[in-house]
Amino acid sequence: MYAEFDTLPLAPLQPLSLPWLEAANLQLAVLRLDLIDPLISGNKWFKLRDHLIQAKSTGAPGLISLGGNHSNHLHALAGAGKRFGFATAGLLRGHPQDTPTVRDLQAMGMHLHWLGYGGYRARHEPGFWAPWQALYPGWQCIPEGGGGVQGAQGCRLIVEQAQAQLSTLGWDDYDAWWLPAGTGTTVAGLVLAEAGRHGVHGALAVPHDHGVAQTVASLAGAQGYQLHEACRGGFARIDDDLLAFIADTGHTTGLPLEAVYTGKALLALRAQFAAGQFAPGTRLIFLHTGGLQGRRGYL
Ligand SMILES: *Cc1c(COP(=O)(O)O)cnc(C)c1O
Repeated sequence: MYAEFDTLPLAPLQPLSLPWLEAANLQLAVLRLDLIDPLISGNKWFKLRDHLIQAKSTGAPGLISLGGNHSNHLHALAGAGKRFGFATAGLLRGHPQDTPTVRDLQAMGMHLHWLGYGGYRARHEPGFWAPWQALYPGWQCIPEGGGGVQGAQGCRLIVEQAQAQLSTLGWDDYDAWWLPAGTGTTVAGLVLAEAGRHGVHGALAVPHDHGVAQTVASLAGAQGYQLHEACRGGFARIDDDLLAFIADTGHTTGLPLEAVYTGKALLALRAQFAAGQFAPGTRLIFLHTGGLQGRRGYL
């Protein structure tokens, strides 16, 4: 019905060969969501899709959401607004800053409002949205990170994209998914689509007390997935071993990773392999969730 939201190209599914994978006789393929679109990167496209369809069907003139000054979510939202003809507004954490992401948001026409830190912390309080709804009447408000039921529903399509390409790898099946988790919405979407057929492993980009388990459980139930610690001391905390791993992987395979989500997730996978968590011959699909726009400035 809203065909314009289905026109993005397929994310390629590519084999990844690394010495530590070969040593353990494990097969890994990467679903490259980073390659689907130059403007709307990664899992954020899938998380936004149902929100966009809803905005279109209700005739909302614009979309409004929240994020930080490196936010992949706001970046994708601004790109989607530009692409599909919606106005967009972003409510930002902290005080005005000039980052590559913020400059892109402005260039894509997003209206920016800086909430400070206290103002941003109030985002879960009742009544938070009222003044914004008064300022932008009829606009659709999207929760932080594009989460919620709509976000998870859109991510179900990710599983279809991978399954449609298995034969190009010569695979008749796979054992499980491995992917980074921030809110857990993308994990929930894969769990819903898999319905127990294949396992889903979420590598946590945030400390374990950030409520990811609760989010996944509320969206997708209690079964069909495992969450693993992967954040290395805190969300967006970057260390030298991580940067060296990202640089090595890039040199060996050409696969670009960033340090907040995908780099930490693949490094956590290596640790699992080293600990013998996966039997030889296991076939995994690593979901590259994109986010490469956010690495300007540290890589
Ligand atoms: C937002 C984001 C995630 C986290 O997705 P959730 O659905 O919130 O778990 C993972 N990787 C990248 C690159 C992201 O931008």
